[in-house]
Amino acid sequence: MKECDFLVVGGGPSGMTFATAVGKKAKVVVVEEHEAIGEPVQCTGLVTPRVVEMAGARDTVLNRLRGGYFNFPGDQVVEVRGRSIKAVVVDRAAFDRTCAERAMDAGAEVAPGERFTDARIGANATAHCWDSRGSFNYTTKLIVGADGYKSNVAKTAGLGGPKDFVRGVQMDIEHREEEQDMLSVYLGKKVAPGFFAWKIPCGEMTRVGLCASLSYDAPMTYLGPLLKRLGLQNKERIRVISGMIPIGSLAQTYAERILVIGDAAGQTKPLSGGGLYTGMVAAGCAARTALGCLEEDDFSAEALSSYQEGWKAELGRELDRGLMIRKAYTKLSDRKLEEVGRILSREDVREVLAEGDIDSPAELAPKVLKTAPGLLRLAPSFLRALFSRSPPGNQI
Ligand SMILES: Cc1cc2nc3c(=O)[nH]c(=O)nc-3n(C[C@H](O)[C@H](O)[C@H](O)COP(=O)(O)OP(=O)(O)OC[C@H]3O[C@@H](n4cnc5c(N)ncnc54)[C@H](O)[C@@H]3O)c2cc1C
Repeated sequence: MKECDFLVVGGGPSGMTFATAVGKKAKVVVVEEHEAIGEPVQCTGLVTPRVVEMAGARDTVLNRLRGGYFNFPGDQVVEVRGRSIKAVVVDRAAFDRTCAERAMDAGAEVAPGERFTDARIGANATAHCWDSRGSFNYTTKLIVGADGYKSNVAKTAGLGGPKDFVRGVQMDIEHREEEQDMLSVYLGKKVAPGFFAWKIPCGEMTRVGLCASLSYDAPMTYLGPLLKRLGLQNKERIRVISGMIPIGSLAQTYAERILVIGDAAGQTKPLSGGGLYTGMVAAGCAARTALGCLEEDDFSAEALSSYQEGWKAELGRELDRGLMIRKAYTKLSDRKLEEVGRILSREDVREVLAEGDIDSPAELAPKVLKTAPGLLRLAPSFLRALFSRSPPGNQI
């Protein structure tokens, strides 16, 4: 029997951010089922410079980007070029290792090769785990589920799972793009139904991938035609990765002696699928709640509910809006999307888009709609209703 104040399940960025934040004030252990932190990679590694600062991971940056070419059906290309660096690409495995080192520096114990199976909640939480030698238990005051989209912790707590998923596949290809500071996004049902595809320059290598809704064919079906369209089908392939992105957060992200954070809580951005920023912000909220509960020695569901209030206050509006816009996006036919592309290609609209922040893409919607109200003609009624309810200043 091992003991700690907080047991974090999952050694990804969300779990490690939590562990870093509490490490100096509590005894925290992070169990990670894989032997190597950061492996296998299931990510593009596209984040804002803000995220790199949050993780102290400057050394993991592979490339810096100013903007992108958004390719709509009908060959309409919308160029959005920011005045400053809008995003960076990180080496995701190295990024995760940096997060782990920070957690250990803060005093957290990291236990690779340990897998959580389930837990019994009573006067304490007893977490059942496995490693290569067999099964054992942790006795802890709080279990923090940072165990990704399949979260065993959320299941154990009866919190259910995310509302929806998209499936993704990505290939790193030996090829140098001429323009290194612009990515490309490809939209449309024939390219990436229900989501989008991307091409991201990373020096001598180019990252090409896509995600698609679960109701369509596997994403690999669309990758071949995309590579052909980009003229990259015969280039050397360095690695292929695949994975799932949860869309839509859990209705409840806490239970007695349990919190769930990051992908385990479905806290990804519904428009881009990015989950590093949101997971790390939620981890900070969870840490504040956990330390407060430790001080009061109260880990009841009621005491832990302040975590949900905290992350909803920081991320809730963006995630809710993103979900609504995504719903409208998935309903658009390629013909309507072509029209959207025509409207967005106007210079005044592109200027608004260039101000955008990829950590809060949905925040841009009211400004874009104010500049191009014609877009609302193409939107379903629920979206029109959403944005006519926007707060003063954002009204269209
Ligand atoms: C194709 C693709 C591309 C993406 N691109 C981006 C991007 O460019 N930018 C971005 O911000 N996000 C991106 N994402 C999403 C991003 O990868 C996730 O949102 C992010 O990894 C979430 O971090 P996390 O710490 O919550 O979970 P994870 O990173 O999934 O970490 C969970 C950890 O828990 C461990 N674990 C699971 N179960 C157990 C268990 N029972 N016991 C012990 N350990 C366990 C896992 O091994 C894993 O290490 C992408 C996702 C995919 C699939």
